Amino acid sequence: MTWFLDDPVFLQHDTGPGHPERSDRLRVISKLLQSSGLAAKCTVLPPVAAKATDIARVHPGAYLRHIEEFCSNGLGYLDPDTPVCPKSHEVALLASGALIAAVDAVLREDASPRERTAFCLVRPPGHHATPTKPMGFCLYNHIAVAARHAQAVHGLNRILIVDWDVHHGNGTQDIFYEDPGVHFLSIHRYGGGFYPGTGSTGETGTGEGLGTTQNVAIKQGVTRKAYREAFQQALEQAARHKPDLVLLSAGFDACRGDPVGDLGLEPEDFGELTKDIRDLANSHCGGRLVSLLEGGYHLEQLAESVKHHLAGLLKE
Ligand SMILES: [Zn+2]
Repeated sequence: MTWFLDDPVFLQHDTGPGHPERSDRLRVISKLLQSSGLAAKCTVLPPVAAKATDIARVHPGAYLRHIEEFCSNGLGYLDPDTPVCPKSHEVALLASGALIAAVDAVLREDASPRERTAFCLVRPPGHHATPTKPMGFCLYNHIAVAARHAQAVHGLNRILIVDWDVHHGNGTQDIFYEDPGVHFLSIHRYGGGFYPGTGSTGETGTGEGLGTTQNVAIKQGVTRKAYREAFQQALEQAARHKPDLVLLSAGFDACRGDPVGDLGLEPEDFGELTKDIRDLANSHCGGRLVSLLEGGYHLEQLAESVKHHLAGLLKE
């Protein structure tokens, strides 16, 4: 039974009127997962806030204090895209904590094959946050915090992070650019000034981490078939890292009609991509796979996409 972190507390990060990253995203997803019967097939874990020591593995203490203080001052913009409210700091810590709890759950020694996949339905997203800079709706880089937790607490040294959000996971890339223990694969729309502008195929890591960053740059206008083939090929290459855990930054803004991303994918495509990444996890790490909601801004398409993704995680 897939672990599933969904809690009304994640609605409390208020980004103000008209912002695409809004709490209605989670409301619409939750509603569909309940009505489709998928939520009932999952074990719900309550979120526990990440501790300062968890965050400190990725972000300096001064950064955490800055975010906390900025949020406590009321509504404001951390960067031109990233509004916060007094609750945002607390909610972001819970989102990081949710991912840590999910990692702990799938890595439990007695976890049955069905208990080795998890989905964290949380916000704000995280993959644009660098160690010292909030960016693109993101405060803390949850997937990086979870990977560092898996390294420090569980002693894992071959982690694979896959990021299929339509935007390049620049923050995650920055954090692990020199780390040979974490292979980072991002497939994203690239070119024509598309946000955030990084993620060319030439960015492959540095120092000891050379070769452990993998960018698949996709042009707008790609066919669904070509996208899937590019993803499958990239996973084949990433599998050479022989991961002992797979983490997934699952954004759904590559979906057709997404007001921010739109690479023309259909919601059911995310079921297929989920199958591909589960095949990899099954081959290398007993199926251990933790997924985190990143972007996705067309409410109906987002909810449908998450439904296909969760159904794929639940499939035996
Ligand atoms: Zn995105």
